[in-house]
Amino acid sequence: MSGIDTLPPLRAVIADHGLSARKSLGQNFLLDLNLTAKIARQAGDLSQCDVLEIGPGPGGLTRGLLAEGARRVLAIEKDARCIPALEEIAAAYPGRLEIINGDALEVDPLAHLTPPIRVAANLPYNIGTELLVRWLTPEDWPPFWQSLTLMFQREVAERIVAAPGSKAYGRLAILAQWRSSARIVMSLPPEAFTPPPKVSSAVVHLEALPGPRYPADPAVLSRVVAAAFNQRRKMLRAALKGLAPDIEDRLLAAGIAPTERAEQVGLEQFCALARALARP
Ligand code: SAM
Repeated sequence: MSGIDTLPPLRAVIADHGLSARKSLGQNFLLDLNLTAKIARQAGDLSQCDVLEIGPGPGGLTRGLLAEGARRVLAIEKDARCIPALEEIAAAYPGRLEIINGDALEVDPLAHLTPPIRVAANLPYNIGTELLVRWLTPEDWPPFWQSLTLMFQREVAERIVAAPGSKAYGRLAILAQWRSSARIVMSLPPEAFTPPPKVSSAVVHLEALPGPRYPADPAVLSRVVAAAFNQRRKMLRAALKGLAPDIEDRLLAAGIAPTERAEQVGLEQFCALARALARP
């Protein structure tokens, strides 16, 4: 018996349903239900929220979310082998777990969710960053989600929360921090997973802000940041020269020395540069 519900332990679920982990699907499972409940608690008060979970696998985090009181969980899982195990969880929590057998990159979850919505997931490593970037760059802000509580490889987590001047600082930090607050809330060693991955992991919690910290056109900011960090060792006047013929003047107008490198430039300055570039 697990500590958090009356369903069988996850090792038994995996054995009963033949869920041998597949590397191609990024399957590193969490089997300790105390740990999955702890991750669920990092997502905040779930009692009034629908929770979107990507890649529930055998359902360890799903059980944590439900046991911690999530109003409803929508779980999208690509691996059809996991669906019967997830259906057993749905039966134990009537009306609170909806399962979709599909690819999270293709399914539109919004039709299945009622706001307020929080996202919580131990993401498959191969699509984690792509999903995060999508969630951070919707057409309109605020986005459909109130918060994201996501497990990443430690190195990716550090890129999300990085400050200027560090090696990890780049496009992901700016995208994440411009309109959200982002922090690492848990660190997990490889042995927390079955099978253990090669690297450590960390849970990042992002809360959507009502609006951007500094004004900027999202498309212009995205273009500037991509160009600046694509050639991160170059001075900005060189890295950005394709964006405007008078890039030095625009950098100066934004209060940035043209000889600076992207790594040294903070979010506020990048937003000022995006505004300077948007002017005719
Ligand atoms: N949440 C489970 C846990 O914590 O034990 C499993 C996490 S495992 C790191 C990632 C899960 O995502 C696997 O169950 C895998 O089958 C699933 N997955 C991989 N690619 C997916 C995709 N494109 N869409 C939805 N699920 C996917």
